[in-house]
Amino acid sequence: MRVLFVTSEVFPLIKTGGLADVSGSLPTALQNLGVDIRILMPGYPAVLDKLSDLQEIASLDNLPVIHHATLMMGTIEDTQVKVMVIKSAQLYERDGGPYSDANGLEWLDNPLRFGTLSKVAAILSGPRSPLADWRPEIVHCNDWQTGLTPAYMKLLEQSQAKSMISLHNMAFQGCYAASWLPTLALPSTHFTQEGFEYHGQLSFLKAGIFYADAITTVSPSYAKEIQTAEFGFGLEGLLSRRGHEIKGILNGIETDEWNPETDQYLIANYSANKLAGKKLVKSALQERLGLKIDADAPLLGVVSRLTHQKGLDMLVPIMQSLINTGCQLALLGGGESELENAFRHLAINNLGSVSVTIGYNEPLSHQIMAGCDMFIMPSRFEPCGLNQLYGLAYGTPPIVNATGGLADSVIDTNIITFKNKTANGFVMSEASPASLLSCIRQALNIFNNDANAWRQIQKNGMLQNLSWDKSALEYLAEYEKLMQ
Ligand code: ADP
Repeated sequence: MRVLFVTSEVFPLIKTGGLADVSGSLPTALQNLGVDIRILMPGYPAVLDKLSDLQEIASLDNLPVIHHATLMMGTIEDTQVKVMVIKSAQLYERDGGPYSDANGLEWLDNPLRFGTLSKVAAILSGPRSPLADWRPEIVHCNDWQTGLTPAYMKLLEQSQAKSMISLHNMAFQGCYAASWLPTLALPSTHFTQEGFEYHGQLSFLKAGIFYADAITTVSPSYAKEIQTAEFGFGLEGLLSRRGHEIKGILNGIETDEWNPETDQYLIANYSANKLAGKKLVKSALQERLGLKIDADAPLLGVVSRLTHQKGLDMLVPIMQSLINTGCQLALLGGGESELENAFRHLAINNLGSVSVTIGYNEPLSHQIMAGCDMFIMPSRFEPCGLNQLYGLAYGTPPIVNATGGLADSVIDTNIITFKNKTANGFVMSEASPASLLSCIRQALNIFNNDANAWRQIQKNGMLQNLSWDKSALEYLAEYEKLMQ
């Protein structure tokens, strides 16, 4: 089975969030199942730099605005997964992030940059593909950046391949002025409600949802939630029309990258049955971050984008009272400046108890995950969430809100779940600071007073199989269904 996996970010080549983690792991797991898979992505400078054996394989012509680009192919060294990149100096080779410049301002030509990604994916799946020897049977799209692909495949490229779109986050939709239609060579006859129009704008994500042959989301709960007004971000009507077709498949984690037994960012490794190393990692983390070195002080961890979605504003008003009872906080993240400042203030006022690192830092994210006692993730919505899965694997029980993938992966600790050894974390009863506080207190009560019970909860999470193997089989089953 030949699959073209289209995405705008792939770990370890380039990453802004969970999409990169999924795009780095899922194709590898599918390849291991025998799928002939290739990734297609933009040729950002970091991607061109990091791929091995990068070679030109085709010329891409008749593209909007830039007319011409080069298709290159290389491999990700560790996994040997093939990656095709669109090399265009005009579109992708610039300083800054994949979506915005160094000041955080969105690139104005994003519709063209991701319209081109979508267009090339469609071309490669159709009769005018410049690749004579490799034509995909399935085109697997991811999020809005690839949303126009199914539309181009169906309306313009006469593609015989089947398309699937995976929804990783409905909050980002890629809506742009209708004036982009002629530039992107999209037929205006389909700029309607039954097409890619959304409230007078061109919506990349809606196009994907409307034209794709199959839709998946990254957790079963999120598959249901997005059919409601609260989580559908305006597309709940269209989604519920196709509701019975939407398949939720929980993400896995990359166990080569996220494994406390082998993690190279840690000063000591540990496992479910040999937890001693976790203590060493905790004291090293406390030292590194200027926190008081104290094995008994409950250390709360946060690694997150600091946005409304992630709900960390709920931690701000309750954190001082937790500190007053001896808790520490290690936070790594960045985003909304008001929230960044609120946490900075908390750190300034609580030297030795609170550490706030604003920015992106891969090694520190591993050290926080391993060195902390609990991981705080009170997201208002969470399509899947990876950090809570990392928390489970690292013996850092997650404290989460009951939504999306958090609800599907974290099992609240109560008498029944503790007895049957499924309890692996703590789940809030609603998205509020009071509920977060009471949930953290419940965890603290066990952490402070019952070391054996705490160890059991840690072990329950650490012994779960969180790898991609199971999820990859589910994707494979969806591909097979599509091909029948
Ligand atoms: P989302 O994709 O919505 O941001 P996820 O939990 O699905 O959230 O995935 C976030 C990924 O990004 C995780 O791998 C997490 O460790 C990583 N991450 C988020 N913020 C940072 C940061 N400041 N530094 C390092 N890694 C981060």
